[in-house]
Amino acid sequence: IFSSLPEVEKDEVFDLLGQFRVDVHPQRVNLGAGVYFSDEGKSWPLEVVGKVEKALHEQQAITRHDYIPIEGDDQFLNAARDLLFSSTFPNPAGKQTSDPRVVSVQTVSGTGANHIAAKFIASHVRPRCVWVSDPTWANHHVIWEFAGVTPRTYPYYNNEDCTLNFTAMLDVLEKESQPGDAILLHACAHNPTGLDPTQEQWVAIAELCSRKQLFPVLDNAYQGFASGDPVQDSWAIRHFYNHQPPMEMCVAQSFSKSFGLYGQRAGAFHLIINDTSESTRGKALGNLAQLIRSEYSVAPRYGSTIVKAILESESLSREWLAELQLMSSRIRSMRQALYDELTRLGTPGSWKHITEQIGMFSYTGLSAAEVEVLRKEYHIYLLASGRASIAGLNSKNVEYVASAISAVRSR
Ligand code: PMP
Repeated sequence: IFSSLPEVEKDEVFDLLGQFRVDVHPQRVNLGAGVYFSDEGKSWPLEVVGKVEKALHEQQAITRHDYIPIEGDDQFLNAARDLLFSSTFPNPAGKQTSDPRVVSVQTVSGTGANHIAAKFIASHVRPRCVWVSDPTWANHHVIWEFAGVTPRTYPYYNNEDCTLNFTAMLDVLEKESQPGDAILLHACAHNPTGLDPTQEQWVAIAELCSRKQLFPVLDNAYQGFASGDPVQDSWAIRHFYNHQPPMEMCVAQSFSKSFGLYGQRAGAFHLIINDTSESTRGKALGNLAQLIRSEYSVAPRYGSTIVKAILESESLSREWLAELQLMSSRIRSMRQALYDELTRLGTPGSWKHITEQIGMFSYTGLSAAEVEVLRKEYHIYLLASGRASIAGLNSKNVEYVASAISAVRSR
């Protein structure tokens, strides 16, 4: 039966990580995975997460392994919703707003939220296609194809000068999208390009979605990583959410990067509906619960319990914010250090985009051939597209990386 299985390409990010792990070269550098590393080059469990874990263990609040409800942990979902839609932060316990327009469920992190979004929209919105940016996170293509919705791409990245090609983006969407199509947008810190629309550009995108009756799917995987401020980074989400006339839409939310909870799979999916009658809300929640039950039954509880404890406490929220700022500012300083060193070495090409791009990634502009040489000869790992995770740079390896790029570019 299985000998005729189709060949599939390996997932590039995890494949690269596997190659990196067995590379014993002392100067090997991992710029492949979207994971935050400290200046010591170590993965970095957030201190506030460790502190909360310890307290929850002492209170035996995290040592119960019961199922959570199918829809998820209500208090976690309240806190998750506030983090997305509230224009204030922190929002400690008791202040959570519940809006009848928002129907939330807990998911297996951001990937699970994207998957639930694709399956739910495929069944109940039945779009002709989903518009995704060119380029986008590779998994977006797979997730939507598996849900039976064909991805089509809108221009996003200008190869010539490594900037956002906003005019072409709007032009294609204006001319080619049809009412009822879905459109996937990265809420902030676009993966892989590190290029986000400005607020004025977001206004124009939302206006187009509303006028052309597109169904927006906002993917929010890096809140806080763009600016260090979760409220600023959710500006686009709030703009869509508060749009007049109101738009039906959804948001996929991940806590992997922002709380350093990668393997714990904490996430949520939020559906925004216009008809807030009990009946419609009940049906929306019921259909989402049925989908979840058939796929993973209930979400994991460990990571979401930690996120909830942090966001429900004003002081812990502030500690989290300080760590978020530390992570995002270290990434910013590494962008600058890489740029300075490349420029100092007189590396052919323009490198300004490295400091202008934001979030965890830089779309370096390196070609697939250059990336291959960097991996084979210099033991520096980044994606064939030239995407580098800046969080993999540190004060000890940035000069080595810059000199390798400079040597490869000068060949
Ligand atoms: N969306 C985007 C754009 C991402 O980059 C990622 C992480 N690579 C995710 C969603 C999902 O991440 P996770 O499932 O680990 O929360």
